[in-house]
Amino acid sequence: MKAAIGIDIGGTKIAIGVVQEDGNVLAKFEFPTEVEMGPDFATEQIISYLTEILNKFLISGIGIGCPGPLDPRRGVVLSPPNLKSWHGYLLVDKIDSAFQLPIRLLNDADAAAFGEYFFTYRETYKHVLYVTVSTGIGGGIIINGSLYEGALSGAGEIGHSVILPDGPICGCGKYGCLETLASGTALNNIWKQRLIKEGKLVDPNWNSKDLFVKASENEPLALSVIEEASTQLALGLSQVIQTLNPELLILGGGVIIGQQAYFEMVREKLPNYLLDQHSQFLKIEKASQGSLAGMKGAAASILSEVKDIGGIP
Ligand code: BGC
Ligand code: ZN
Repeated sequence: MKAAIGIDIGGTKIAIGVVQEDGNVLAKFEFPTEVEMGPDFATEQIISYLTEILNKFLISGIGIGCPGPLDPRRGVVLSPPNLKSWHGYLLVDKIDSAFQLPIRLLNDADAAAFGEYFFTYRETYKHVLYVTVSTGIGGGIIINGSLYEGALSGAGEIGHSVILPDGPICGCGKYGCLETLASGTALNNIWKQRLIKEGKLVDPNWNSKDLFVKASENEPLALSVIEEASTQLALGLSQVIQTLNPELLILGGGVIIGQQAYFEMVREKLPNYLLDQHSQFLKIEKASQGSLAGMKGAAASILSEVKDIGGIP
């Protein structure tokens, strides 16, 4: 059975896995991105894991999911807001010079969308929207059973839809992008700013997980932060849903996967912003592949294209 390597580069961690055609993960490695150390530092670690993998498994190719904007044709990481030190990095060349294997670079949310579709939903749905809520917010679109990447591989960049024109500044340079209002980073920032404004104590080590703990204890400020963010997220999603009319909306990414309450709030609010025709028809699910969706989808982008070369030796 064919196997490929999937690499999922995120704003906080990088996951590398060996994935079989049937979705089995034969090996998996994970390490922090450490953005401040720059892309060479991370790529050297990637290359050393790849070397280890290639000594043990027969591999058809390497799929890499990375936050956009990217130029997949030239294999360049252009300007992802949450990977500032990687801007202009020739990622594919770097990996290609170490291994002579097919390599495919794609947007991280596109990879996750494709992972969900390929390993879970390809028999049941043809039109799928996947949205990841993590350090940033990104989207992947499956139309008629194919991944739709757009003219510049920038399709589905829902995190940079401006929802509040006088909102917080985004890493992309604009103000009030969805990502500044409803991502994990945004929830954490907004919560801490409000606590400071109310003269309350802020532990610098708190993150969005602590916010959800406080909300589950019915702490009013924490509840209001999540309430507002879930409204903004539902609003942003509704515009894409009404444009694309998918059968299935999949919500993934660390914040959704870890926080059932956030997922439920968004699901409950969506009908407020959708035509009845859309809300009655749309199925909404949490990522079935969980946090592996991106890594598995990056591998699937290779597995769906290459011929069988034999599997595990
Ligand atoms: C990027 C997207 C990415 C998302 C999640 C956004 O800031 O623009 O391309 O999918 O973060 O990583
Ligand atoms: Zn933005």
